[in-house]
Amino acid sequence: MNIHEYQGKAVLKEFGAPVSAGFPALTVAEAVEAAKKLPGPLYVVKSQIHAGGRGKGKFKELGPDAKGGVRLAKSVEEVESHAKEMLGNTLVTAQTGDAGKQVNRLYIEDGSDISKEFYLSALVDRETSRVAFVVSTEGGMDIEAVAHDTPEKIETFSVDPATGIMPHHGRSMARILGLSGDQAKQAGAVLAQIYTAFVAKDMDMLEINPLIVTTAGQIKCLDAKISFDSNSLYRHPEVVALRDTTEEDEKEIEASKYDLAYIALDGTIGCMVNGAGLAMATLDIIQLYGESPANFLDVGGGASEEKVTAAFKIITADPKVKGILVNIFGGIMKCDVIARGVIAAVKAVGLQVPLVVRLEGTNVQEGKDIITSSGLNVISADDLDDAAQKIVAAVKKA
Ligand code: GDP
Ligand code: MG
Repeated sequence: MNIHEYQGKAVLKEFGAPVSAGFPALTVAEAVEAAKKLPGPLYVVKSQIHAGGRGKGKFKELGPDAKGGVRLAKSVEEVESHAKEMLGNTLVTAQTGDAGKQVNRLYIEDGSDISKEFYLSALVDRETSRVAFVVSTEGGMDIEAVAHDTPEKIETFSVDPATGIMPHHGRSMARILGLSGDQAKQAGAVLAQIYTAFVAKDMDMLEINPLIVTTAGQIKCLDAKISFDSNSLYRHPEVVALRDTTEEDEKEIEASKYDLAYIALDGTIGCMVNGAGLAMATLDIIQLYGESPANFLDVGGGASEEKVTAAFKIITADPKVKGILVNIFGGIMKCDVIARGVIAAVKAVGLQVPLVVRLEGTNVQEGKDIITSSGLNVISADDLDDAAQKIVAAVKKA
C-alpha cells in the first residue's frame, strides 16, 4: 500500500527524522493559509500523487512550457498562482503512464537552500532476508538512470535483524556520501531513525530522493516515498487510515474487498487462475503466444462461489478485456465451485467476449458438466498450452 509524500514525512517525523515544516492543502485557499503559517521567504508547492518524478513532470492541460509538479515560490502570492495552476490538472510523469494523474492535493512546504543532494532508500532484500539500504551521492535524479550509466555510484549494505542498526552502518553511509564530523553524525542518526520506522511500520520500501545537506549544514529528508507490506496492514490501523483510494485502481479496490490477489495489467486477456505460480505461468504463456494479459488474478485455494463471481465481474468490467481465460487446477479449490461462480457471474453481467475454460483436478467432471449444460458459449481446453493458444486465437479473430 502506498501513501502520499506528506503522509510519509509525518511518519518519518514521528521517528525523529528531519523533515521541513509543511501543510497539506486541498484547495487554493488552504494552500494560501498553509503558506501564511510558514516562515518564508522560500516555499515549495508539491503535487501529491502516488508517483515519483513530479518535479520533471508535465501538466497535460498547461502545455510543454509550463513548470512541473514541484515548484519553488518566493511569496504567498506565488504559492497561490502555482496552486491555481496545479489543482485539478493532470500531471504526467515518468511513473504515471501517459494517462497521468489528477492532482487533488498539494503539500506546501518550507523551502530549503540545498548544498548537496543524495539518494537513500531501504527495502526488504529477500535474498539476504534483511533490510537493505541503497545509498548514492547522485541524489535528486532518476536513480534508474544512475544505476544504468554509473552503477559504481550506487552502494548497498544490509542490517542483520539480530543486532539491528549499529553505529558502523552509519559510518558506512557517511563514507559513501563523503561526510565527516557533525554531518556524518547526523547521517548516522537519520539512518537509524529510518531503519526503526521501516521495521516498526512494516514498510516494504522507503525512498528518500533527495536526502539533502542544506547550506546551513543540516541533513534533511526532502522527499519521501513509502510503501507498506499489505500483509501487515491488519496490525496497523493507523497506516490503513492513510490510504487514499482515489489514487488506486478501482478494480484493485473492488478485488481487495473480496480478499482476491488481483493486479491490473495493460493487456487484453483477462485471467482467472488459482495459485500464484500457475497465475504467473499463465501470464507467461499468453505472452508466448503473442497476446498480453489484462490482469494477474489468484482466486486462492478455498475460494467460495461468491468470491469467484466477484472475480469474474471485475474481469468483465474491464473495457480492455477482449477475451477471458479461466485456468483452474483444482486441489483444495474445487472445479465445480469455479464453474458455478463463472456461470453466476455470466448470468449477472453477460458475456461479450470469448471465454476459454481449462479445468483440471478435484471435481473436474462436475465442473465441466455444469459449464456444458449452462448453454453458454464457452471454449473448453485440455491443458495450459491448449488453453492459451485457444484464447489468443479467439481474441485475434474477434
Ligand atoms: P519528485 O520529482 O517527485 O521526486 O519530487 P521531489 O520532492 O524530489 O522534488 C523534486 C526536486 O525539487 C528535488 O529533487 C529538488 O531538487 C527540488 N526541491 C524540492 N524541495 C525543494 C526545496 O525545499 N528547495 C529547493 N531549492 N529545491 C527543492
Ligand atoms: Mg524525489
